[in-house]
Amino acid sequence: MKLSYWVSLLVSLAASVAALPKIDAVSYDRYKVLRINTYGRPSIIKEKIAGLSYEQWNHDVYRHIDILISPDEVAPFEALKLDYQVMHENLGDSIIAESSSRSAWRRQAQDLSWYDSYHDYEDHIQYFEDLQHSFPNNSELISSGTSYEGRDIYGVHLWGASGPGKPAVLYHGNVHAREWITSPVVEYITLQLVTGYTNGDNITRSFLDKYDFYIVPIVNPDGFVYSQTTNRLWRKNRQPPPSSGNQSCIGRDINRNWEFAWDANPLGASTNPCSQSYKGEAPSDTPENRGLDKLVRQLRDGAGIKLYIDWHSYGQYILSPFGYKETLYAPELGKWTKAAGIVSETIRDSSDARTTFTFGPSGATLYPTTGAAPDHVYSIGGAEFSYTIELRDTGKFGFVLPPEQIKPAAEEQWEGQKVLLSLLDEEFFDGEGPA
Ligand SMILES: [Zn+2]
Repeated sequence: MKLSYWVSLLVSLAASVAALPKIDAVSYDRYKVLRINTYGRPSIIKEKIAGLSYEQWNHDVYRHIDILISPDEVAPFEALKLDYQVMHENLGDSIIAESSSRSAWRRQAQDLSWYDSYHDYEDHIQYFEDLQHSFPNNSELISSGTSYEGRDIYGVHLWGASGPGKPAVLYHGNVHAREWITSPVVEYITLQLVTGYTNGDNITRSFLDKYDFYIVPIVNPDGFVYSQTTNRLWRKNRQPPPSSGNQSCIGRDINRNWEFAWDANPLGASTNPCSQSYKGEAPSDTPENRGLDKLVRQLRDGAGIKLYIDWHSYGQYILSPFGYKETLYAPELGKWTKAAGIVSETIRDSSDARTTFTFGPSGATLYPTTGAAPDHVYSIGGAEFSYTIELRDTGKFGFVLPPEQIKPAAEEQWEGQKVLLSLLDEEFFDGEGPA
């Protein structure tokens, strides 16, 4: 047998070992994720399951509640005789399947096999460095701060003709650690911008000639690494609790920690350090948020922010401000809703799966959130357009989306972004369409 065979075998073994969770990883073996139909009466269902120990995955509970239960809770759950579907029969198996798929990708930024599987954090860094190196005259690597554990919140800045200095388009991926689909989607859009510009594609060139792109694919690197090595369902950062709190509860929700309207609505975040949506002790008391906010303010004070998108999963939503109050509507809401509707139609018509995205103001459409990024980047950062996009799916797999869906999820978002980026400087409601 040739030596090269053994070398490549060892390399692939090393790669698959790196993807496996550590020995002390949280096991979800025989845990189930279930979607309980609520038929518009979620409080009745919530009352029925109150005696169970479960983790709720979704917040839009009008039609269904998605819950994670341990093996011990399966029999008591079944005894309730609720109407439900199984999302994950054995979440442990789904997580193993998700990470066992290794693509043939070998350090080439243009190689689309990158999007056939999920990747380690270090590979994500390398991927963006390679992408930047492939576009040396129109880009630079940037940093949007440092995480609690000292990781660089890296990103890339792209520009077109006549150099940098145009209004900014800012993308944030993976603020919630377990929402793995978000970083490859953001990377794919970056790749399309770089490749399209290099190949002389007129539409892509017009985007980069009009706007500077600031793209940060993993704004919560500590949480992301932890979700890969230890607990697949980790959401927050990895900051210790305040000294007064339960010391076993780690992490703050970076997307409940932004300064604007941080404390405006008790339903918008949790004050409990053990909660998944713990907002921190004070606005911007996470190092990640401070770094992200610093860049937002720099861009505002420079050429301004044209578009901001915070990428999340799951649920398939396009959400604009305001999140913190369901009955508060910004003067720009008509424009944002019109644009989101066009993006939603474009995504649906471009995808084989006819993926459908619901859109509207965040609080009214989904649920109230305080200290969330789009409200802040609009109100403090002055962004002309500001959205949360919740990616695939609508609840078949939830956070643990099979790798076969990465590429279609990314392709449909690029179609959506192409139309959104074309609309940003349109005069809305002038009777001349399309916006
Ligand atoms: Zn999220």
